[in-house]
Amino acid sequence: MQHISKLPTVETTIFTKMSALANTHNAINLSQGFPNFKSDKTLVDFVNKAMQSGYNQYAPMSGSIELRDAIAAKFSDLYNTSYHPESEITVTAGATQAIYTIISAFVRAEDEVIIFKPAYDCYEPAITINGGKTIAIQLEAPSYAVDWELVKQKVNAKTKLVIVNTPHNPSGTVFSENDMLQLQQITEGTDIIVLSDEVYEHIIFDNKQHQSACLFKGLKERSFITASFGKTFHNTGWKVGYCCAPKALMDEFKKVHQFNVFSVNHPMQKGLADYLQTPNHYLELSVFYQEKRDLFLSLIESSRFNALPSQGTYFQVLDYSNITDEYDVAFAERLTIEHKIASIPLSVFNDNNLDNKVLRFCFAKTDETLKQAASILNTI
Ligand code: PMP
Ligand code: GLN
Repeated sequence: MQHISKLPTVETTIFTKMSALANTHNAINLSQGFPNFKSDKTLVDFVNKAMQSGYNQYAPMSGSIELRDAIAAKFSDLYNTSYHPESEITVTAGATQAIYTIISAFVRAEDEVIIFKPAYDCYEPAITINGGKTIAIQLEAPSYAVDWELVKQKVNAKTKLVIVNTPHNPSGTVFSENDMLQLQQITEGTDIIVLSDEVYEHIIFDNKQHQSACLFKGLKERSFITASFGKTFHNTGWKVGYCCAPKALMDEFKKVHQFNVFSVNHPMQKGLADYLQTPNHYLELSVFYQEKRDLFLSLIESSRFNALPSQGTYFQVLDYSNITDEYDVAFAERLTIEHKIASIPLSVFNDNNLDNKVLRFCFAKTDETLKQAASILNTI
């Protein structure tokens, strides 16, 4: 039997590869982004209780209404904006499924989708498999600032979607208010949809404010916002997230969502709805992770790595050009195999695998793990 791949150039994700390599070589795994500490017992108890009390059959297609109400309340409290829980919020199997579903619902053959590189790796394959064309705009280390004039030049009648991500994985940079205003201005008067991937909205440092697309009237009316409870509540393995958008956009989203997942696991949704009743559960996250970032940075201060600014997310990018000029993928592999510390090379997220000699380290780890990791990095 013969078949022609729909994604001929796509390989297994770097996260899967590096975590597997870390496991094989018994290395400290700061590659794939997940915490190595437990989720709050209160949340786990809520989920257990939900299972014991019978939340074990299909949830409603758009998500448990209690959870959608809690999400709507969060938008209202945090951003003073409203999304209707019945028609403008859908609970998804992680942000990944939301992103895939948004792209599938709107991108047709030959449509153009603008993304910024380095880009999180699930955007481009979803565009390709739906026949769309990725228009990549490369951002440059160390600032990863967007040249909005260039974006303006790339927009044309074929532009269907622009995907933005703040706080940004993998660089750890965040958009300013001005970035969002520029995006708003460029898309004004067009039919362009914005996918604003905000999975790290609650992990932002140094008193910076998260610039959600919902804060800008002209963006809110054309945007999907995607979010992930896995990032916020330390349970990436539960794969529960959500997205919100104005009703007309969400109606189209649901046409696809109902056939690629139908609904998301019910007891987790009930547990998360109960847990969201206490806003401190997410409001305290920035301080928690800023302490981890600062601990990690202070521990590696005397190493030969140079830290790029991490303004949000739980990732720290380190420049290793003082150490070697090896290709970043090769260096990341060698660090894992020889030095027992795993990271993510950024070139895999760049246009034409541009290699800026930087690696991403995940600091969502216990202090003990960060100390062990730093003691290795200090010897390199
Ligand atoms: N977007 C970004 C920027 C991410 O880093 C991730 C991975 N955590 C996702 C989307 C996917 O989130 P989830 O694990 O909820 O599918
Ligand atoms: N978002 C995680 C990261 O950036 C990885 C998720 C995955 O493995 N698909 O590391």
